[in-house]
Amino acid sequence: MNEVKRPKKPLIYYYGIVLLCLLLFNLIAMPWLAQRRIQEVDYGTFISMTEEKDVDQVEIQDDTNTILFTDKDGAIYKTARVEDADLTQRLYNAGISFHGQEIQQTSPLLSFLLSWVLPMVIFIGIGQYMSKKLMERAGGKNSLAFGMGKSNAKVYVKSSEGIKFSDVAGEEEAKENLTEIVDYLHNPEKYKEIGASMPKGILLVGPPGTGKTMLAKAVAGEANVPFFSMSGSEFVEMFVGMGASKVRDLFRQAKEKAPCIVFIDEIDAIGKKRDGQIGGNDEREQTLNQLLTEMDGFEGNTGVIILAATNRPESLDPALLRPGRFDRRVPVELPDLKGREDILKVHARKIKVADDVDFNKIARMASGASGAELANIVNEAALRAVRDGRKCATQSDLEESIEVVIAGYQKKNAILTDKEKMIVSYHEIGHALVAARQTNSAPVQKITIVPRTSGALGYTMQVDEGNHYLMSKEEMENKIATYTGGRAAEEIVFGSVTTGASNDIEQATKLARAMITRYGMNKDFDMVALETQTNQYLGGDTSLMCSAETQREIDQKVMELVKKQHEKAAAILLDNREKLDELSYYLYEHETITGEEFMKILNG
Ligand code: ADP
Repeated sequence: MNEVKRPKKPLIYYYGIVLLCLLLFNLIAMPWLAQRRIQEVDYGTFISMTEEKDVDQVEIQDDTNTILFTDKDGAIYKTARVEDADLTQRLYNAGISFHGQEIQQTSPLLSFLLSWVLPMVIFIGIGQYMSKKLMERAGGKNSLAFGMGKSNAKVYVKSSEGIKFSDVAGEEEAKENLTEIVDYLHNPEKYKEIGASMPKGILLVGPPGTGKTMLAKAVAGEANVPFFSMSGSEFVEMFVGMGASKVRDLFRQAKEKAPCIVFIDEIDAIGKKRDGQIGGNDEREQTLNQLLTEMDGFEGNTGVIILAATNRPESLDPALLRPGRFDRRVPVELPDLKGREDILKVHARKIKVADDVDFNKIARMASGASGAELANIVNEAALRAVRDGRKCATQSDLEESIEVVIAGYQKKNAILTDKEKMIVSYHEIGHALVAARQTNSAPVQKITIVPRTSGALGYTMQVDEGNHYLMSKEEMENKIATYTGGRAAEEIVFGSVTTGASNDIEQATKLARAMITRYGMNKDFDMVALETQTNQYLGGDTSLMCSAETQREIDQKVMELVKKQHEKAAAILLDNREKLDELSYYLYEHETITGEEFMKILNG
């Protein structure tokens, strides 16, 4: 779609700039220019010029103890005054006009007026005008002072090249949900006939980078209607009431252009719960109130559809979510295996890829990646192909770029000592071996001990065979055992431990804690929720909601659980000690080992 209107800068900017220039001119340029015009000479020159009758006018300045004089051509000179009793007589004899007034100098009064009083008057005038306008607005009028309350929304108009649903891969449910809106915008009569009214607002919720903005644009593209886009944070202004005014302006524009779509990104910036805390954000609350009022104010069938996106739906004000406002919620989740494959294919259309690329395999390797990350992976692959002088991106480019996106670039100059390399090899094989020996664990795709810029010295990449929507208790326990496998291998082989397991420890603890507090996988606590997730889409922060005593018990149980799995992992490794050594030496030598090679050695 073509963006046709860029927001103009409010008039106050220009006033400000003019005022600043004026002040600078007065304060710096004027005295400098005046200074430049006057030449300083010594007293002797003045006397000789007087005698040669080259002087036209003279002004004696008592206060600064100087003499200003002009020559016949009008140039101004200055000299320091010297005790000279005959001066007046000499000047008189030479027929020079002399007086006590300034020569062609701006009067101090005028210069004071120009440099200080005038700018002040202008400034006060602007202030008065602004406050008058603001008061008018507070009185309900919709005029805009210097454009400060303008919505600044980016407006896209109808265009045949807009984003279409076909550009958004996966997300079938969301697309289906939004297709109805498109149909309504195409054919409102059909809905009016039967008396059905469209939802006024639709909330797209999901983790970052899953295509919420894209979907909103696609609705506008499919329906071929104007699209107003604005981010929630753009409403929040320094002055109370400005945001509200922007909301009013946005809706006024939208109504003029109806049918159309208004898209508010990151709506949580203005739509947060009004909790009435002391020192609350008045501006934000007023903006939210205005938004609520505007959404109530227009009829369901005016043809203005509001789409909003957020990744923190739980923080939104309930008033915003009630029917009649954002009454429909469309989840835009992380893509599943099929979705990931489709997204990769959509983005691969934009670059040249080799014919034999297996997108399914790439999608399986990139489990948990969002649409934006997948787009990034494809682009990284293309960049890698260019770097290596290839004409198109290959399977290995794509595989390597997944690692780049997950773990960062290969560190070229990180030199591990042999001992460290050996420890890292054992650590990674420890993970992989424990994973492979537990029937339910996902098979290993690749193990590498090439250090990465993220700080990882090596890692084991696991691949999900298919979509997993549920995880059993056993699977989760196995996962914890796999996390502890690296450390267990170090203990068995070297008899000591290293710092390399910090991330494993974190992951294992998180999982164990979730099993106990959120998934009810501990018999003693039964199905009691001990923790709530406050931030589902952004990292999943949790907050405990139980007594201190229970907390202690939880900690105890988490420790027991992890310890048990750690012991289990150690037992598996001890049972497979020979394979552990064989595989670790192989990895030490080759630095990277594929899943197939690993299984071949393990089963060989
Ligand atoms: P969000 O608004 O959810 O944070 P965006 O819609 O801005 O995410 O998506 C960011 C980028 O990620 C898009 O420009 C697009 O390249 C890519 N992307 C995300 N989801 C998809 C998808 N389902 N299909 C194709 N590309 C996607």
